[in-house]
Amino acid sequence: MVIVWRYTSSVSSYVSAGQQVVVPPQRCPTCVRQLVGWGGYWRWLRAPLLVERIWIRRGRCAVCRRSHALLPDLALVRRLDVVTVIGTGIGLKVADGLGLRLIAEQLDVPHTTLRAWWQRFRATSPKLLNECLAMAVSLSGAAVDVRSVGERAALEVLGVAWQRAHMRFGVSIGSSVWGFWSWISGGLALGTHTTSPWAAMGGTDWMRASPSPGGPDP
Ligand SMILES: [Zn+2]
Repeated sequence: MVIVWRYTSSVSSYVSAGQQVVVPPQRCPTCVRQLVGWGGYWRWLRAPLLVERIWIRRGRCAVCRRSHALLPDLALVRRLDVVTVIGTGIGLKVADGLGLRLIAEQLDVPHTTLRAWWQRFRATSPKLLNECLAMAVSLSGAAVDVRSVGERAALEVLGVAWQRAHMRFGVSIGSSVWGFWSWISGGLALGTHTTSPWAAMGGTDWMRASPSPGGPDP
């Protein structure tokens, strides 16, 4: 299983940290015990002006005897590109209706890559909308007035959930809505899984489980 954690510094800092990257303590998704370090692995990450290998630590639960990849919220599972670039591409398509080819040129990513993101986003956007609506409502108790439809509505409500999480938990939520998107989906925001990662890693579970005022600690 993948556990996404919030990384607050820059992509280049993560890259240059190499195997020395410091991951805050993470808990077992099953029994909530603190995980112990369990090596890691290299993966590639493409960001503006860089394509580099980054070190992904693994953590293991001594009780459940299972290890988990600890993915920074810079990235998504099995997607080469940094999540802010993926999100920006989707955002441009949704908000401005620009052609995929033009957006791909702007972002300097292959057209086929952007098309794959867009197809997955379209397929997953109803789930994103539902999960973020439920999350936004449970965060503040107030209903969400959705003013758009389709993919646009999904992005709108993702933004609302992120803002409300910020109001409740403060800076620990992170300054990037796309990092939040990776985090609440357990890195599977564009995944092809039929089972929902949202229910396990995101959704509303972390809010119930989290001891305030410390904020969410999945
Ligand atoms: Zn465990």
